[in-house]
Parts: sequence; structure tokens; C-alpha cells
Amino acid sequence: MAETQEITLDDIVALCKRRGFIFQASEIYGGIANTYDYGHYGVLLKNNVKDEWWRAMLQERDDIVAIDSAIIQHPRVWEASGHLEGFTDPLVQCLGECKRRWREDDLRERRPEGELRCPVCGGDLSEPRRFNLMFETYMGPVQDEAARTYLRPETAQGIFINFKNVLQFARRKPPFGIAQIGKSFRNEITPGNFVFRTREFEQMEMEFFVPPGDATEWHRRWMEERMRWYTDLGIRPDMLRLREHGPEELSHYSSATSDVEYLFPIGWSELEGIANRGDFDLTQHAKFSGEKLEYFDQEMGEAYVPHVVEPAAGVDRSLLAFVVDAYDVEEVEGRKRTVLRLHPRLAPVKAAVLPLVSKAGMPEKARALYEELRDRVPAEYDEGGSIGRRYRRQDEIGTPWGVTVDGQTMEDDTVTLRDRDSLEQVRVPIAGLGDELAGRLEQPWRSPKLG
Ligand code: ATP
Repeated sequence: MAETQEITLDDIVALCKRRGFIFQASEIYGGIANTYDYGHYGVLLKNNVKDEWWRAMLQERDDIVAIDSAIIQHPRVWEASGHLEGFTDPLVQCLGECKRRWREDDLRERRPEGELRCPVCGGDLSEPRRFNLMFETYMGPVQDEAARTYLRPETAQGIFINFKNVLQFARRKPPFGIAQIGKSFRNEITPGNFVFRTREFEQMEMEFFVPPGDATEWHRRWMEERMRWYTDLGIRPDMLRLREHGPEELSHYSSATSDVEYLFPIGWSELEGIANRGDFDLTQHAKFSGEKLEYFDQEMGEAYVPHVVEPAAGVDRSLLAFVVDAYDVEEVEGRKRTVLRLHPRLAPVKAAVLPLVSKAGMPEKARALYEELRDRVPAEYDEGGSIGRRYRRQDEIGTPWGVTVDGQTMEDDTVTLRDRDSLEQVRVPIAGLGDELAGRLEQPWRSPKLG
């Protein structure tokens, strides 16, 4: 299996900026560390990633319900969950010249044996200090201890504290899941690598509640399901692996965790964690809130605390993996072509409608066709600049189909349909084009990079 990517993160950052996917946040003020804003195509792509996750969780099965919980919850939530006490990284600081801060566990990973030194200047390191990753804030006008609250560091706890509501109002019984997408915040010590690790990010988390005896089997099933989600959406299987956590790596709540890892330009790194959390969360919240968080099984005539299997993914990280996996550069007729070979369902725009030239009635014809097509698939109309430049632009935002209105269109109502990946151009009648593209979107797809 390959250990590196030929594509660099700089290539990806440059494309994301050039085409308006992702910008440095607060750029006109010099930026703010490791914080990014998503532009138009970035928003569309991110929405598609989230839609595909919802589709897999809600539309393609009937044992999961959705929730959207608040970002700021009662501070006791974070006591019960263990975050207040345990959500810390061991921070060490260089005592030499550069004074940089590092995560001791990261350094230890790079140098499992021997004494740790600053990787930049070789200086001595301070003793590790536990550093809590939660962002604090205050609720109300008085900034005292009683008003202290936290921005959630994960979306999962908002699910556990709604367990009772869902049991009651959604009338669910184990096995069932509760899914949520939303922003989380972590004051990471060593952020970096573009949107791979930021202090504000979006998570897609699902907590699946099962009878205790079935947890291991469900954990296995969810690992399979989640791997399939990525490959169905075009990630090349060679670039993906499951890595089981060793005993020293397991979180305080977990009896087994496997990470889905992707071979990013920075090496194999976590995309998603799939954990068997046992009954830790429900038991803790029952203890701290005084509410009973159990399921009463009528058939067995007894109550039990369900165990939880959790696939927890990052929206921004998966988006980055999809873009890296899709990024391709090739030579076409002596010229370099950069293209994002995204799965059509992820592509921000599905069809670009382009008049060949800005005259002879072509813009009007193309505009009318675009207005018809956009009811069926997300489409874009573009008449500015040479046709070659417009194709290149659409290639770089990953638009799978180009529809060109030319002289012949004016005579016989056919257009050329250009395929982003094969560059094949075929003539098709305008009538039925909407059906054709909508149909293509539903077909299974395989990355052309697989050859
Ligand atoms: P890491 O080891 O990379 O810090 P983690 O194991 O702490 O991640 P989890 O708590 O399991 O991460 O969160 C689930 C998912 O949320 C991760 O797999 C990742 O996709 C995403 N995620 C977590 N932290 C960040 C971050 N700082 N920036 C972007 N995405 C993140």
C-alpha cells in the first residue's frame, strides 16, 4: 500500500482559493490562525457531503432519527461526559530558542523511544501540562464561576441528553440511532494542515443504541457501513483503511475504537472514529441528572441501559479527503488540465450550460435551456470568456457535464454534452436532457483515477 500522496496540500489550498471553495478567515485583517471561511462552491460541496450523510442515515434506513441540539448546554453535561476533567492534551513547550508548543503524545508517536526534544530547534522541553480543549464562555451579564459555560467540543453529548425524548416522542426501541450534524469547537494546541484540523469545525455523529449483547456485532456492521459510504462516494479503496486503536490509545469511555483513515498528503490520518462506547454515557448522565436513562423491554419484562456504537465523522475532513481524492492533473493536447473528478452527487454544480459564442442567438437559447435544466439538477450558466477557459473553470470546480449551445443547436435543437472525465463530446437532443442528467446522477460511479 502506498505511504504517500503525490499531491501536495499546497496544490489543494491553491485550487480551493482560486475557485472560491475555501478562504483564510479574516483575511483582510491578516487572517486568524487555522480558521477558514467557505465560499460559494465550498458551501455547495459541504452541503452535498452532509446531504449524502443524511441520505445514508435517514433515507436509506428507518432505524435512525435526526436531532439538532444546542451548541451551549448546561455545564453539568461536560462534567458528566468527562470532558471537564479529561478532555485534555499534554502540552509541552520548547525551552530552547523557538518556544513552540507541542502535544507530547504527537512527539512521542514520532519518536517512540528516548528523550523528547523540540522537533524544530532541538531545545529541551518543559514538563507536560494538561490543557483543556474546551472553549469557555459566560452566559448572561455577569462573568463569574456560576455563569461559566462551554462551546460543545462534540455533538454526541447533545444526543445522549435527548435519549429520553427520542424514546418517548419518536417511539423508538433499541436498536435505533440518533444522528446529528453541527459545529463543534476545540481549542486545539497544534492545529494545522488546512481544514484537516481547525478550532471550529462540523461533525456528523450518530449514536446507535443497542441491547448490550449486540454491541460488538453492531460495531462491526457500522465499520463496514461507514467504509462503504466513502467508497460509494468515489474514494479509492486503496486510499482508505481501518485502524484499530491499541489499549493505550482508547478513550476513557470506549471498549473498542477503529478509525477510518485516509491517505492525505500529510500521511495516513483519521477521517472518522467508530467507537463502542458501552453504557458509559447514559450511565453518567443518569447519575449526574438524576433521570433514569434506560429502556424497558416489554417482552423481557426488564429495564436495561443500552450500549452505544458511534460513528463520528468530520464534515470538513471528509470534504478535504473528497477533494484530495478527486484532484487530478493531466496533459491534454500539450496543455495542462487540472480537474476535480468528484462523484457527480458531490459535485457543487452538475451541469454547466455554455453558449459557444456570445452572438447569433446562442446566449438566449442557452439561458433558456439553463432555466429549464436547473429545475432538474443544480446547473450554472456561463457566457464570459473563451469556451476553453469556461471548460477549464468547470473542470476545476468538478462539474461533471458541460452542455454547449452552438450553431447547430440553432438549427436542430441538439447540443454537445461534454463529459468532464473522458472529455468525450456527444450530440444529444435538448428534449429529454433533464431526464438524461437526472438519470446519470443516480447511477453508481467509480473514480476514473482507478483506471
Ligand atoms: P484527532 O485525533 O485528529 O484529534 P479525535 O480522535 O479527537 O481526532 P473525535 O473526537 O473522534 O476526533 O471526532 C470525530 C471526528 O471529528 C474526527 O474523526 C474528525 O473527522 C473530526 N474532528 C475532530 N477534531 C477536529 C478538528 N479539530 N478539526 C476538524 N475536524 C475534526
